[in-house]
Amino acid sequence: MDKVGETTLQIDLNALEHNYRYLKSKINPKTKFMAVVKAFAYGSDMVTIAKKLEALQVDYFAVAYVKEGVLLRDAGIETPILVLHPQPVNFEELIDRCLEPSIYSPNILKQFLEVAQKKQQKGYPVHVKFNTGLNRLGFWENDIDFISKQLEERHELKIVSIFSHLAASEDANEKEFTQNQIAAFDKITGEFEEKFGYTPMRHILNTSGILNYDEAQFEMVRSGIGLYGYGNDKAIDSQLKPVATLKTIISQIHKIEPNETVGYNRAYTSAGYRQTATLPLGHADGIGRQYGNGNSFVVVQGKKAPIIGNVCMDMIMIDVTGIECKEGDEVLVFGSENSAETFASGANTISYEILTAISQRVKREIVSY
Ligand SMILES: *Cc1c(COP(=O)(O)O)cnc(C)c1O
Repeated sequence: MDKVGETTLQIDLNALEHNYRYLKSKINPKTKFMAVVKAFAYGSDMVTIAKKLEALQVDYFAVAYVKEGVLLRDAGIETPILVLHPQPVNFEELIDRCLEPSIYSPNILKQFLEVAQKKQQKGYPVHVKFNTGLNRLGFWENDIDFISKQLEERHELKIVSIFSHLAASEDANEKEFTQNQIAAFDKITGEFEEKFGYTPMRHILNTSGILNYDEAQFEMVRSGIGLYGYGNDKAIDSQLKPVATLKTIISQIHKIEPNETVGYNRAYTSAGYRQTATLPLGHADGIGRQYGNGNSFVVVQGKKAPIIGNVCMDMIMIDVTGIECKEGDEVLVFGSENSAETFASGANTISYEILTAISQRVKREIVSY
């Protein structure tokens, strides 16, 4: 990949295509694929990622908020878009931009019906979310009656899918819990069919669900993290390719004497003669303070260099003692050679968090088309 001259998040669309094809190979050819592109496509570049996936003929997109769906529509994306967590204040805009809401509570159903009526909608596509154990968003099984009563003799809405979300699909120790969630969802869909006289599309699997519970694909699956190259599992990670690689450069090198300190609050004290490098990347770019004080490392000239002292707003300092390097040299923070999962684990977190944390201040560069 190209050398960078400043902090840059490189986005590899060939990797995205590889991951998409890999995940598709794990599902039935008839099962639809919903690409989750919320949070700037997991911190990468939402519009670029969505355009590539649209060209690959993905069936559906999912975003969290209406604002994100509007960005996709503004960019010319025409594929259906599910908004997972819409707020009533945005319902009119949602309809104006042909976005499809997740209807997740009695309150949301009532408010959306009101807006759909006001805007004289007929058969507007909506997706009904059921809670099967995550206890985050969703109707309960015994709400089916309420939903059907609300929609009786009304034509504003058309339920095009019913769905649920797994709490621990990546965790083999929670297999029984997950299977119970799937069974609960299956039961709900049966009751729904009885009440409504048809079965809309059904979906419950996220990335790890696709990889671990292929019996529960139903008509659609939803994948986010897998598309970006991570599968919550070492064996799977080796089959996927990271889409995002964060690189920066060395701004300045210092030779430090024994017992000198580095950075704010003098958090690092050198035990001997050390060489440090300062990088133009800080907590305002998404590298939180938990990555400092030796918890995580970056890669300089193929060698591990720990982040020392406290992470500053616009800078981190790393220990490059014994590494042959100079000012201007490229530094790999995470990506193809130091996975986001590895980098994140040093700070006790997960790839999802570090990927989505990379702030909009960081330059994005598309490195393959
Ligand atoms: C974010 C999200 C997903 C994507 O999950 P991954 O583990 O990234 O595949 C799927 N479904 C819902 C409801 C989500 O909120």
